[in-house]
Amino acid sequence: MRNLSFDPKDLEELTSNAKQIQDDVLEEILTLNANTEYLQRFLHGSTDKELFKKSVPVVTYDDVKPYIERVANGEPSDVISGKPITQFLLSSGTSGGNQKIFPANNKFFEDLNSVFALSSQIISKHIDGVQQGKALPFFFARAQSTTTSGLPVSSAFSSYLLSDYFKNWSSNRFTSPNEVTMCPENKQSMYCHLLCGLVQREEVVSLAAPFASSLVGAITFLENHWKELCSNIRSGHVSEWITDFSCRDSVANILGGPNSELADLLEEECRKKSWNGIITRLWPKTKFIETIVTGQMSQYIQILEFYSNKLPLYSPRYASSESIFGVNVNPLRKPQDVSYTFLPNVSYFEFLSVDDEGNNEGIVDLVDVKLGCFYESLVTNYSGLHRYRMGDILQVSGFHNTAPQFRFVRRKNVVLSVSVDATTEEDILEALNHATLVLKSSDLILMGFTCYVDISTLPGHYVFYWELKAQTTSDVVNLDNKVLVECCCAMEESFNALYRKVRKREGSIGALEIRVVQQGTFDSLMEFFISQGASSSQYKTPICIKSSEALAILEKSVLARFFSDKVPL
Ligand code: AMP
Repeated sequence: MRNLSFDPKDLEELTSNAKQIQDDVLEEILTLNANTEYLQRFLHGSTDKELFKKSVPVVTYDDVKPYIERVANGEPSDVISGKPITQFLLSSGTSGGNQKIFPANNKFFEDLNSVFALSSQIISKHIDGVQQGKALPFFFARAQSTTTSGLPVSSAFSSYLLSDYFKNWSSNRFTSPNEVTMCPENKQSMYCHLLCGLVQREEVVSLAAPFASSLVGAITFLENHWKELCSNIRSGHVSEWITDFSCRDSVANILGGPNSELADLLEEECRKKSWNGIITRLWPKTKFIETIVTGQMSQYIQILEFYSNKLPLYSPRYASSESIFGVNVNPLRKPQDVSYTFLPNVSYFEFLSVDDEGNNEGIVDLVDVKLGCFYESLVTNYSGLHRYRMGDILQVSGFHNTAPQFRFVRRKNVVLSVSVDATTEEDILEALNHATLVLKSSDLILMGFTCYVDISTLPGHYVFYWELKAQTTSDVVNLDNKVLVECCCAMEESFNALYRKVRKREGSIGALEIRVVQQGTFDSLMEFFISQGASSSQYKTPICIKSSEALAILEKSVLARFFSDKVPL
């Protein structure tokens, strides 16, 4: 069998032989999996690639869920995979309100390791001196759970952080000791990352977080905790509430003794009214920020540019629990122009063409995609997924040698997202059903609604615009604070587990807000959309608003605001 891992220096070779490598990958996967129960159903033991394309169906999570669950419940891996499944990755995508789990083996972590090394090599080719310093990481390895059969389950990035691959790779690259990254208590871990980063400020050449939302969350946390952090630096003593023993010990080591000079300097910067450029003021040698800023994360570009005085934002990779896809080989491109070069040795990739209406029109191989066209990717990986629909819409933006580069366009079906939460139209409608049940106890009826994600205040939060009508009187709407706050809570309670989980993390998602608008607002909104070309006979209020002009119409009609007053269970 070919060596499955790869060396970063192989990038040119890999991308020059994309067709052959993809062919080999498919052959290898079919040989490995020919006798799995899943493939037997369609191929009856054959490893013929043409037969694979003709007979193996394109699937979604619900199609493969029963097989995955059987392995999670203790049946042998070969229900789906010839290579033993060693753990499950918990994805941020949801299926019927539950987070999805994907089978994985070491190949995933080996690839991720290579991609990390590759990104680090790419960035040092473009920016001088990054190898000489350290990155301040906002990495959090969350506690793992286990399946009934005892296999570990956690998010892909957490699993990587917990693996030896990360431990071996990370030494000396980061200002935080591994004990901080491994600390299962999120708030303690965040505090200690910042403390270590501030103490070693002269060594910091970059800030890193997997997604931009976590980086923005870290700065918000800093805004709320800088006084305490500075006081720890002044006294040389870590706050008592840092109770995780190994985390506390390792941080105390880095803190060394009292340092009032550094504390004064940091306090002076943090006390300034504007936090414009705070990153470069606190960490003056920072040369770039490494975090994903494409797709849902693009909403954070502006705030990161504000905090960092427009340092380069390097969006390093496009990866998921199902597979790693590609790397960004042009780190200095504007975030809006980022594309990812697909790595042909990671999985077998196919592409479902998506026309403007979202209809699917045929499947092509990786090397046959056309410049400018839109596709949904299908993954066949080394751990049991075959022709799996990713639900991500991508556009071909160029080629690196023969490997295509894709711009991430959007996730299918997700309409609201602040962080890694992914709330679909279905989730929103379900939440509204719950809220309207609460409204029934009052005199009010919901006449119209729409929503958006407000990230002008941090952390970002979901905002619902509601037009209400009183049942008993024809005009004056009496807004009962208790009922409307309860509606906010009912919606949050109804959102999927991922939303509720992220909402519980400090600084990740703020309380959901209902903004009640004047009567007639939704008519004005309709007139606006029709004036923009929407069909008047088929007009539907958009569930989620993206246009700033439409938002302005809603905003100028806001009568009152209500926030949920508790974190959902
Ligand atoms: P998860 O399986 O929870 O890691 O989520 C993977 C999903 O995150 C992908 O399917 C994408 O929708 C999204 N994602 C991952 N990387 C990127 C990226 N570089 N740009 C935009 N979205 C991304």
